[in-house]
Amino acid sequence: MDAATLTKPAVLILLGPPGAGKGTQARLLEQKFGLVQLSTGDLLRAAVKAGTEAGLQAKAVMEAGDLVSDEIVIAILRDRLGEPDVARGVILDGFPRTTVQAEALDALLASTGQKINAAISLEVDDAAMVSRISGRYTCGDCGEGYHDTFKSPDVYGICDKCGSGNMVRRADDKAETVASRLEAYHAQTAPLIAYYGERGVLKTVDAMLAIDDVASAIQQTTAEAIA
Ligand code: AMP
Repeated sequence: MDAATLTKPAVLILLGPPGAGKGTQARLLEQKFGLVQLSTGDLLRAAVKAGTEAGLQAKAVMEAGDLVSDEIVIAILRDRLGEPDVARGVILDGFPRTTVQAEALDALLASTGQKINAAISLEVDDAAMVSRISGRYTCGDCGEGYHDTFKSPDVYGICDKCGSGNMVRRADDKAETVASRLEAYHAQTAPLIAYYGERGVLKTVDAMLAIDDVASAIQQTTAEAIA
């Protein structure tokens, strides 16, 4: 099943702690299935950069590694889901992160007659997450992700995809902030694994494997879920 044969908009959720590879895998799914990656982290970072009211409120919370309020995140997501390019279907990356957000998503989808095809949980060890996160960086121009140890560009400092030399590291990828982010994940987001398990849409993938192997497993799960 590919984008051309999709009959109704798919809704996929990628669940997992920071550093599990949600962003990397969401981008691969985007290319393969023609779905749209929707990252609330990216939307919030854009709001912070643009200096919007929501961005101003979110900035300090994000820098501390805590979760932004459900109210702000749900409003941002609702606005984004209303844009025309998401009509083919979405991969939610980093949303929902609380039970309140999961319930808000259920209500939003019910109002448009959509359902969640799959919530794919990326299973990883906490200890590995710290080194994964602290080594990562992105192309500031096209968003391609890299890692000091696991995924270097062919030419040091130059993006393989777009040729830019503008590599950036996230402010909240510092070791001290990573600990808070993992804590927030375990306290507020991990319960969603059971939430989606109870609704029969949970799929789990071993995300400790190499990127390509994780990608194959996720893509197979996705193909089945949107068939
Ligand atoms: P991410 O890019 O997904 O790692 O998100 C970066 C930061 O944005 C998180 O540490 C939170 O502070 C905030 N954030 C992103 N998505 C959410 C969400 N669904 N709920 C609350 N805060 C979020």
